[in-house]
Amino acid sequence: MVNTTIKTTRSQEIFAAAQNLMPGGVNSPVRAFKSVGGQPIVFDRVKGAYIWDVDDNQYIDYVGTWGPAICGHAHPDVITALHTALEKGTSFGAPCVLENVLAEMVIDAVPSIEMVRFVNSGTEACMAVLRLMRAFTGRDKLIKFEGCYHGHADMFLVKAGSGVATLGLPDSPGVPKSTTADTLTAPYNDLEAVKALFAQNPDAIAGVILEPVVGNAGFITPDAGFLEGLRELTHEHGALLVFDEVMTGFRIAYGGAQEKFGITPDITTLGKIIGGGLPVGAYGGRRDIMSMVAPAGPMYQAGTLSGNPLAMTAGIKTMELLQKSGTYEYLDKITKKLSDGLLQIAKETGHEACGGQISGMFGLFFTSGPVHNYEDAKKSDTAKFGRFHRGMLERGIYLAPSQFEAGFTSIAHTEADIDKTLAAARDVMSNL
Ligand SMILES: *Cc1c(COP(=O)(O)O)cnc(C)c1O
Repeated sequence: MVNTTIKTTRSQEIFAAAQNLMPGGVNSPVRAFKSVGGQPIVFDRVKGAYIWDVDDNQYIDYVGTWGPAICGHAHPDVITALHTALEKGTSFGAPCVLENVLAEMVIDAVPSIEMVRFVNSGTEACMAVLRLMRAFTGRDKLIKFEGCYHGHADMFLVKAGSGVATLGLPDSPGVPKSTTADTLTAPYNDLEAVKALFAQNPDAIAGVILEPVVGNAGFITPDAGFLEGLRELTHEHGALLVFDEVMTGFRIAYGGAQEKFGITPDITTLGKIIGGGLPVGAYGGRRDIMSMVAPAGPMYQAGTLSGNPLAMTAGIKTMELLQKSGTYEYLDKITKKLSDGLLQIAKETGHEACGGQISGMFGLFFTSGPVHNYEDAKKSDTAKFGRFHRGMLERGIYLAPSQFEAGFTSIAHTEADIDKTLAAARDVMSNL
């Protein structure tokens, strides 16, 4: 299938060539549009709320490079700061003051973080945190939730939503069963299932890791009492609570979901926004836990490019921009307008849909809902979502190419952008 109403000749040429050069033509699977049909557009440049493809079509962007672009793409302050930093060199592999600056900003912002370690991706942060949970507690098992994503490390690749998931069967070929044997899973928002796992595995569970608001199974919020319940259960069993805030950190609120919901985990992972569009991840938590990390303590973890001056610079500038008063109120206002508008249009055009938003993060499922977990999310009409996605793309709206991804707005999105998006949605949904 090719795009019908917009010219995508150049995108198609480039993507065809890419398929011979890189597996599936991409360097990260979801970019390939496999779940929505059609072919990906190839980007040429990004600015503010907009993307231009190589055929010079313009789109309003709701992916924001999967979260980082919360200030809009290529914000002039970030670009200027990067130019200055670039003149001093691209990598030091040695301490630099920029690391202190960003570390202080993260520690000030995120309630659970007293010390932090910077790495290069969210995957790396989650991998390190699992090692840290095990090192600190002397226990090997972990609990994760179906549909939550914690990067592509072996131990987290346990099939979400599958009936055999609780057995720890690997999700991907190449993941040894022994690697996932200690990964226990429960349905999101199901405290009873977590209680049962603790009862079945006394003194063996190092901790519980979750997305405090899910963005990787579509957008799913925690039910009242769920985060509180996990905090109590982990305390009761001497296990650690880890919030994977790679997506929600500085997105849901400046201090992340933990600030928004008033629940403080023991450890937090970050990424995406704190790199301001450059590759960064981070993990942090209580001082006694973080003191386990080498060279302060015995738990080994390292990185040639970690704390890279360009990435630190982009992160610092992005955080400074987010600190301006009214940022999160604005994100919430425009995103609510978008989310409410989409649901209203779906209703008026006769489509079962549900969804919602918090701050600049939103989701829309083509199912009547409500969606409390991945099983519920999978009831969505994914074929319909594919047609919706294609229709929106043809009308200049770039949505994440999967029903099971959250959407993102930025402070660069205007009310006029939202109006345009809703007009396109009305047009598409009327003919789905
Ligand atoms: C994106 C994401 C990751 C992985 O981060 P990468 O930088 O892609 O490795 C981990 N956890 C969550 C919640 C994410 O959204």
